[in-house]
Amino acid sequence: MAEQYKYMLDESRIPEAWYNINADFPVPPAPVLHPGTKEPVTPDFLSVLFPMSIIGQEVSTERWIEIPEPVREVYKLWRPTPLFRARRLEQALDTPAHIYYKYEGVSPVGSHKPNTAVAQAFYNREAGTKALTTETGAGQWGSALAMACSFFDLDLEVYMVKVSYEQKPYRRVIMETYGAEVYASPTERTVFGRAVLQQDPASPGSLGMAISEAVEAAATSGGAKKYSLGSVLNHVLLHQSVIGLEALEQMEMAGEYPDMVIGCAGGGSNFAGFAYPFLHQNFTNGKKTRVIAVEPSSCPTLTRGQYTFDFGDTAAMAPIVKMHTLGHTFVPPSIHAGGLRYHGMAPSVSALVNNSDVEARAVPQLATFEAAVQFARAEGILLAPESAHAVRVALDEALACKESGEARVIAFNLSGHGHFDMGAYDAYFKGQLEDYEYPETAIAEAMTQLPEVSL
Ligand SMILES: *Cc1c(COP(=O)(O)O)cnc(C)c1O
Repeated sequence: MAEQYKYMLDESRIPEAWYNINADFPVPPAPVLHPGTKEPVTPDFLSVLFPMSIIGQEVSTERWIEIPEPVREVYKLWRPTPLFRARRLEQALDTPAHIYYKYEGVSPVGSHKPNTAVAQAFYNREAGTKALTTETGAGQWGSALAMACSFFDLDLEVYMVKVSYEQKPYRRVIMETYGAEVYASPTERTVFGRAVLQQDPASPGSLGMAISEAVEAAATSGGAKKYSLGSVLNHVLLHQSVIGLEALEQMEMAGEYPDMVIGCAGGGSNFAGFAYPFLHQNFTNGKKTRVIAVEPSSCPTLTRGQYTFDFGDTAAMAPIVKMHTLGHTFVPPSIHAGGLRYHGMAPSVSALVNNSDVEARAVPQLATFEAAVQFARAEGILLAPESAHAVRVALDEALACKESGEARVIAFNLSGHGHFDMGAYDAYFKGQLEDYEYPETAIAEAMTQLPEVSL
């Protein structure tokens, strides 16, 4: 029989409901706290930032939440995404392992992020919101939300981390093409931005700072603008579950079931979107798939951060959640080129790691780019550097199979292509990147800034 390389689902197979892991959670979730009072937040506080429909999803314990028809209609532009069997990579590695990857790079903006951007724009439109504010690092999230806002006729204000704004002008132009306004954060537009610039006029910005600016812009808009976040929160992870739900069906088409599933983790959304439907099978159907979240060793939130209550942003304006954190004052090392820079992690991913349902692994930068190059030469796809973290661990596991002679089934999520990240590849080829272990002293120092919480 001819060998099959990719498993495709018909448009009619786009999932009709998202999977909500909170229905199956092995431990009760920690409360979300108000940044000022440090008491559990009320829907009132959250409703300044989000429409009630999204707040409802944030706290829902319903296992299946219906995907609105207008959202499924937009998903049809690129979903279902293909699942590939990486046969050429298997040959190159000479491994008995079977390697599969779900490819989210086929979305119009090249990553998984529109899966939630489209849903968030839809719910805001329904609730009468006029404009959204958001932050973006390298620009993947900003481009996804800009596209979604153009589909649902919403204005969009993007606070883009200044160093990326300067180094990645094409991402800004993508956002502007969809009609968004993009500002280099820290800006003069917010009280917080002005305070940062007064202290450090040359501040390169950070995701935490840009979140603070976007949150402030929405909170002070008198209700006209709401805020949108591209990762970390429960509703974002929920929307991403379409990835894993499709992958479950596609693995069935391939006649196999993964022994391990792997995803890279920045805030945790593509990892969770891919892995949680498989965890659902572990929790309720007796499956024993190993689930691995991969992060850079220069931003080792899950592997070396503390599991505790911390602010979601630098200015201490966003809610306090229990998560693995390097401290909300974290500024990523400038030598780090691979994304996945957020100081915290989705609370549910953190809780699952803490409960040993999910393994966490950190990989160094050079080995990650090495994996990206090896993958491109075997499979053709130029990975986003973020996705290359997942590939590094998939390669390591496939090589371990070669060693032991076991034909394990390895599946990973390929969260996006890297066509706008060629500067990072260029730096790698020129030998300008180095490995960097985030220093213990910096973590200890940041831990002295954690909020005092009486729980
Ligand atoms: C944003 C992004 C990530 C990291 O975000 P998560 O919320 O952890 O998924 C990973 N890969 C790609 C391609 C991205 O754009």
